[in-house]
Amino acid sequence: MTNCFILLAAGKGKRFKSNNPKQFTNYINKPLFMHSVDKALESRLFKSIIIVSNIPIKNIRNKSVKVIKGGKERYQSTQKALNFIKNRKFKNVFIHDAARPNFSIKLLKKLNANLKKNNAVVPFIKTDDSTKYVKNNKIHNLNRDNLLFTQTPQCFDLKSLYKLSNSNKNIVTDEASLFLNNNKKIKFIKGEENNFKITTKSDLRKLNVKNFYGIGFDIHKLIKGKKLYLGGIKIPFHSGLQGHSDGDVILHAIIDGLLGAMRKKDIGTLYPSNKVKLKNIRSPNMLSPIMKTLNKEGYFINNVDINLICEKPKVSIIRKKIITSLSNLLSINKDQINLKGKTVEKIGLIGKEKAIACEAIVALNYYA
Ligand code: ZN
Repeated sequence: MTNCFILLAAGKGKRFKSNNPKQFTNYINKPLFMHSVDKALESRLFKSIIIVSNIPIKNIRNKSVKVIKGGKERYQSTQKALNFIKNRKFKNVFIHDAARPNFSIKLLKKLNANLKKNNAVVPFIKTDDSTKYVKNNKIHNLNRDNLLFTQTPQCFDLKSLYKLSNSNKNIVTDEASLFLNNNKKIKFIKGEENNFKITTKSDLRKLNVKNFYGIGFDIHKLIKGKKLYLGGIKIPFHSGLQGHSDGDVILHAIIDGLLGAMRKKDIGTLYPSNKVKLKNIRSPNMLSPIMKTLNKEGYFINNVDINLICEKPKVSIIRKKIITSLSNLLSINKDQINLKGKTVEKIGLIGKEKAIACEAIVALNYYA
């Protein structure tokens, strides 16, 4: 694998009208530029990812991701990034604008496949709008069938691009222009309608959002001599929850809520209690493959609401700790989670402190 992914995030975005540059604005649950970083990582096509930014970026833990300072103009940022990698042994380089967070991994793979026989591969779309242009103060018609709108990621044989970029002194708005200005061949492939550029604030709402809801319920008996786990953490208590796993009713209810919203059956189908291998499994380990599926299929958790039904432990005392734990396990903010406590007037098994039950409702967003 000898590909490098350069993410251009140094632009000022004047049309976005915000103090926070658009690349760093929150978009579908994370900073806008992170959508591109995550997709590049997930594609496994790249040995290295270089983010070009004029604002320091912290909190990126992946070793293959590096941040470097950009230039004033876009083409200068590209040059800086190419200089930064010139002594590394990359065969190909992908250049991408952080303002296009909605490309698919499929597009990355298609670009990569086309690089085998070409030095430059660029995605484009056509327009359905009637198009005019102005010349000598007069408006003329333009045949829209002849128009190509180029997108990024664009990918190149590194040596070819480096040579052109190094000798270029003109402002170019993308690397495809550089190839065209020098009469070099480009392979154009079909881009994606959703891969639009976010320029103004209204572009942030361009994708359609679909909502999915899931409900979950669980109950386990309390027994002496077992540790109590709720929401993924150990809670000091005189008894613990009996079960094939650690009996964490909160995580089990959330898992069923998530599976429900994704329309993927239930926890019992996924983790049958007759499987010896699953004996004493910790519930965070049951949740993590479901979180992977959720991410892979493009769902985002909007919020989770939980009813913990028990006489004791008192929810007001453990609420903060449980919400912190859930926010880590579900990779969402604490303000997306609510935990309510409910007693049952001392009625039945729960009232006699012999069982704990939990119900949870989960709302997922899906952008298309
Ligand atoms: Zn359970």
